[in-house]
Amino acid sequence: MKDILIKISDDFPEIFFVKGQRNGKYPYSHSMLLKDTLIDTGISSGFLRKLKRKIKINNVILSHWHEDHICGNRLLSQANFMAHKEDIHIIEDISKMYEYYHVSNDPEQIELFDAILQGLRLKNTTIDSILSDKDIIEINDLYELQVIHTPGHTKGHSCFYEKNSKIIFLADIDLSSFGPWYGCKDSNIMEFEDSIKKLKELQIEIAVSAHKGIIYGSSNIQNQLEEYLKKIYQRDEKILKFLSENSPKTLEDLANKNIIYSTYSEYKIYEILAEKIMIKSHLTKLLKENKISQKNNGYILS
Ligand SMILES: [Zn+2]
Ligand SMILES: [Zn+2]
Repeated sequence: MKDILIKISDDFPEIFFVKGQRNGKYPYSHSMLLKDTLIDTGISSGFLRKLKRKIKINNVILSHWHEDHICGNRLLSQANFMAHKEDIHIIEDISKMYEYYHVSNDPEQIELFDAILQGLRLKNTTIDSILSDKDIIEINDLYELQVIHTPGHTKGHSCFYEKNSKIIFLADIDLSSFGPWYGCKDSNIMEFEDSIKKLKELQIEIAVSAHKGIIYGSSNIQNQLEEYLKKIYQRDEKILKFLSENSPKTLEDLANKNIIYSTYSEYKIYEILAEKIMIKSHLTKLLKENKISQKNNGYILS
């Protein structure tokens, strides 16, 4: 465990990137620290204990309800917790996660989820301050964070923009090569597209992605946001290529074709489930755009 606190810019010495375990790879994530305010707690228990020895954390902002962003909450029970109003009910009652991840009665799925949540020692967290779009969180005389509500990944997913430094915490609009993820009950592909477009309107100099790390340069960030958005359209195209004008294909036919995941990880059971949900959301969108139609319980090109 090398130093986990990394200064983002010499010009803004009180803003830090906090590195997550496994380099921020799931089930962990990177955080950002401004004075005594930490955004997300998924760096891992060990890393968080190390951080607590260096800094007293009085405030915690949660970007969204996913376990890889809130799993350290139990170690910061004295802090003032903040989260967007749409995500609070799941953070306060994590048993809802099963429903929100579409975990069915399949024993294999339940076993995997139990293992993940118990492994992270996830606990319910009471939220003290409710956030909404455009809210301002005062850090000190120099810094204030603006809440940028960016739904799509989850309903309450939010990014946090510091105007003075033009540094943003992007959370899970993570600019990864995988692309956007919208596989849970409160995800929405069209809202995700709008959220990326909303971020493109901001003047951003430095971006912190919860799984990719620090990204420098406004034009570089603009390009990466554009590429990230294009991933959604590329998936649309991939799905259209699998369809024909006369022989209907079902959702089952489209699953396991690596349309979303080019490879599966140790969480394969869950990834296949999420992939189906994501493909379904593309099909709903393509139906609305009249690019496809439904025939005999399947889908054909219009
Ligand atoms: Zn997430
Ligand atoms: Zn994440």
